[in-house]
Amino acid sequence: ERIASAARAAGRDPAQVRLIVVTKTYPAADVLRLAALQVLDVGENRDQEAAPKAAEVAAAGVEVCWHFVGRLQRNKCRSVVRYAGMVQSVDSVRLATALARARGDLPAEGERVPLDTLVQVSLDGDAARGGAVAGGGDPDTALERVLAAVASAGQLRLRGLMAVAPLGWEPERAFADLARIAAPARTQYPDATVLAAGMSGDREEAIRHGATHVRVGTAVLGARPAPR
Ligand SMILES: *Cc1c(COP(=O)(O)O)cnc(C)c1O
Repeated sequence: ERIASAARAAGRDPAQVRLIVVTKTYPAADVLRLAALQVLDVGENRDQEAAPKAAEVAAAGVEVCWHFVGRLQRNKCRSVVRYAGMVQSVDSVRLATALARARGDLPAEGERVPLDTLVQVSLDGDAARGGAVAGGGDPDTALERVLAAVASAGQLRLRGLMAVAPLGWEPERAFADLARIAAPARTQYPDATVLAAGMSGDREEAIRHGATHVRVGTAVLGARPAPR
């Protein structure tokens, strides 16, 4: 309801904003509960935790779409491509290449479809904290190059952009920047219609600036224990 009212307040159709519930630290049983409520998009940020959870949900005969939303190491790509329906956090050319290769090496089951992929944008330009940098000078993490790498990889399908508001920034400023960065990308890559932005604390602002997918953990499932 809060997503729907934020969409209406922004003059948008609530059906244009999809809820992804971030289930990190919560057990597979909670994913099954969400699925029973028709919440079929869930997010995870660590392969170590997500892979066994996805296997448990699949073993229960329940199908959900797993969104990988965390920093992804290249050596985890082989695992992630087995269960992820969308990877939201590709932020370098090298990672795009590794992900495409891993997807291509999956044993073909029927007709293998390209993996839906978002390019994560760094809004404060600090690539060390994750995200490709618009107009950046490093060829591996320059946004324009990462977009091109994903778009040209046969095993990946460039669906859009993702971002997290930098710590200490006004969400309003962060998501206005993101919208400005996303506009030319969408013109160049017409398939890249997804804007994944907004979490428990800032989804209203993200929706106001065009978010199509919000990633919400705490506001649905409750506060997580502090990271170990
Ligand atoms: C944990 C996480 C979220 C959800 O955060 P909440 O504040 O609990 O809603 C969203 N996006 C990413 C990338 C995350 O790691």
